[in-house]
Amino acid sequence: MAAAVYFSEKFSADTVSKLFERALADTGGRIGGKDRVAVKLHFGEEGNSRFVSPANLRPILTTLAGHNSNHFLTDANALYRGMRHNATDHLEIARKHGFGALGVPIVIADGERGEEETQIAIAGKIFPKVRIARHIAEARALVVVSHFKGHILFGFGGAIKNLGMGCGSRAGKLEMHASLKPSVNDNCTVCGKCVEACPADAILLAEDKATIDPDLCEGCATCIAVCEFDAVEVPWMALASSAVMERTAEYALGAVNGKPCVCVTFINNIAKDCDCMADSELIGQDVGIVTSTDPVACEQAAFDLVRSQHGDIDIFKRATRIDGSHILGYAESIGLGRRDYELVRL
Ligand code: SF4
Ligand code: SF4
Repeated sequence: MAAAVYFSEKFSADTVSKLFERALADTGGRIGGKDRVAVKLHFGEEGNSRFVSPANLRPILTTLAGHNSNHFLTDANALYRGMRHNATDHLEIARKHGFGALGVPIVIADGERGEEETQIAIAGKIFPKVRIARHIAEARALVVVSHFKGHILFGFGGAIKNLGMGCGSRAGKLEMHASLKPSVNDNCTVCGKCVEACPADAILLAEDKATIDPDLCEGCATCIAVCEFDAVEVPWMALASSAVMERTAEYALGAVNGKPCVCVTFINNIAKDCDCMADSELIGQDVGIVTSTDPVACEQAAFDLVRSQHGDIDIFKRATRIDGSHILGYAESIGLGRRDYELVRL
C-alpha cells in the first residue's frame, strides 16, 4: 500500500504540529513512552542560514514531549573541515544557531572525532554492512528533520541524504564518497599526528610530507580528523554522483534498520547548495512541508511538489546538472521505501 504523505503550504507552528502528529500516528504508537528517539537534523554550517530553524523544530519537540519520548537532537560529524568537523565545534555552531535554547539534549552522534560507530548489516547491493554513528544506531526510533535544497553532487538533498550521508560515521562518509583512500597534500608540516593516530600503521613520514599506503589503509578517516593543517584530502569526485547516491541510499537503509521513523521535510529557502556551505543563491520558491513514515515517499513527494510549482521543470537539475531522481529509484529497489504515495493536504 502506498504511504501517506501529509502536506501543507503553511509554515506556522500549528501546521508543523498537525503534520507531524499525523505521520507519528502512522507509526502505530511505536514512538513514545520513554523511547530513546534520535531527532536527526543539520545544525547548519558557519555562514549558512537556510537550515531548518529552531522555531520550526520546536513544535516537533513539543509533540514528542507530549508523547513522553526521551528524545535528543543529533547529527554526525562532517568529513570536510569546518565547524561540524569535530563534536566540540559542532556543538558550538549548534548553540550559535539557536538549538541550545530548545531545552533538549544535543548529542553529536559519532563522538569527538567521528570514532564512535556501529556496524549494521544490510541487505544492500553494494555494502554487506554500513558504519552508522553510534548514538543514532542505538536509538529506538528516528525523527528525520530535513531541509529540501540543491546539492552539488546529489542534485537535491532531503530525507534520504539526511539519513544516509548524515547518519554515517566519518569512516562511513568516506566509504560513501570514495572508493579510493585519502592522500596527503603539500600543506603537510610533517607533525606526525596522523601517524600516531592511524590504527593501521598505514602512514609513513618522509622528509617533506606524510604518505599513505593505500594497501594498508582501512579507510577509517581518523587522519582527516586529526590533521590540523588540512593536509589529508578526500578524493571527493572519485565516484560518479549516481554511485555516491546509491551508496548513500544503502546507508539510509542501515540508519533506519527497521526502526519506526518519521520524516519531516521543509521545502523552503531552496538554495543551489546544501547547508554544509555558506548561503548560496535561491533557485526556487517556497513550497511547504511534507511528513511521512516512508523516507522514499516523502522525498518523492517533495521533489514532485517542487517540480509542479515550477512549471514541471527540475530546478535542481537546471542548477546543478545532476539528475537527483536517481536516488529515488535506487532507494526503492533496495527496500528503503516506495515512490508511490497518497498526498494528504492538511
Ligand atoms: S597530521 Fe597532517 S600535517 Fe601532520 S603529518 Fe599528518 S598530514 Fe602532515
Ligand atoms: S584513513 Fe585511517 S587507516 Fe587510512 S591512513 Fe587514515 S588513519 Fe590510517
